[in-house]
Amino acid sequence: MKVGILGYGNLGRGVESAIRQNDDMELTCIITRRDPKSITPATEGVKVYSVDEIEDLKDQIDVLVLCGGSATDLPKQTPEYAKYFNVIDSFDTHARIPEHFAAVDKVAKENGHVALISCGWDPGMFSLMRLYGASVLPEGQDYTFWGKGVSQGHSDAIRRVAGVKNGKQYTIPVESALEAVRAGKNPELSTREKHTRECFVVPEEGADLAKIEEEIKTMPNYFADYDTTVHFITEEEFARDHAGIPHGGFVFRTGVTGLEKEHKHVIEYSLKLDSNPEFTSSVILAFARAIYRLSEEGGSGCKTVFDIAPAYLSPLSAEELRAHML
Ligand code: NDP
Repeated sequence: MKVGILGYGNLGRGVESAIRQNDDMELTCIITRRDPKSITPATEGVKVYSVDEIEDLKDQIDVLVLCGGSATDLPKQTPEYAKYFNVIDSFDTHARIPEHFAAVDKVAKENGHVALISCGWDPGMFSLMRLYGASVLPEGQDYTFWGKGVSQGHSDAIRRVAGVKNGKQYTIPVESALEAVRAGKNPELSTREKHTRECFVVPEEGADLAKIEEEIKTMPNYFADYDTTVHFITEEEFARDHAGIPHGGFVFRTGVTGLEKEHKHVIEYSLKLDSNPEFTSSVILAFARAIYRLSEEGGSGCKTVFDIAPAYLSPLSAEELRAHML
């Protein structure tokens, strides 16, 4: 399976390294909006193309992995390139997934390609765990907690605010809320009661700090519904204290069964990730394998993780899966 990468940021580099761990995949090329000469891929010999040449690469790529940011890149790029390729993205603005799906689905169907949007761990693996949990325990409650960790989507959004040189955002679960769920109390929790958001921002010289803080705190979908703290720090502090991109979180489904609903159950799925983009990339490649298979079967249109049968993710055959994993 020939994989192309569009956009060479954290995720783009993650996909590049994850391809090395999948024997059925090879990296065809990296495509960027920047000057290709300004990019040095980690993989020796791999070609870097300008996005202006993307149409010429149609026959060389089985699946194009879109590694742009969710805030402004993917809403434009995924529908645009579903015209020429099977595509997969990690679009994580939850509130806008339905409109993004509709835009991508239309183009993918018109051009006979398979697309998959909103892949990764959340949306992605966490979405699947929510679906499995709620299907298995229909009478119950869902809880998702993120962090403590860096949200790339939110950090990306901060960095696009005028006057911001660099920025990182940590999502932090509210400890008392986490404890209440673990204790089986089934609390009703508002968005604000579950998580806080903490931002570390390196401002441009002479930037209006109050304006930056206000713009971040009031940003719809990203920060407006949370208690957000903004810290302004120097470039040196940023490099010293905020170099990594860890993340993680929990999906819980609590439920009851029995004639008297006398038995309680707790399903818990947790992730502890040293590198969010590298893990996200690994999930994306498993689903890229699935859409390649669907495309080979003649399928078209946009999918999400919900539409993919698990066996399509694995490089193992159906016989091997039945023998060793069932
Ligand atoms: P980056 O900011 O690192 O990269 C985004 C794009 O910016 C790149 O594709 C690249 O495009 C461009 N870029 C990167 N570095 C530079 C640079 N030095 N100068 C100029 N442009 C640059 O974002 P991430 O890769 O960290 O994340 C991408 C998206 O992935 C996030 O917005 C988030 O929505 C999503 N995500 C989803 C997850 C999930 O679970 N579903 C989990 C993690 C992330 P180009 O090469 O064309 O210039």
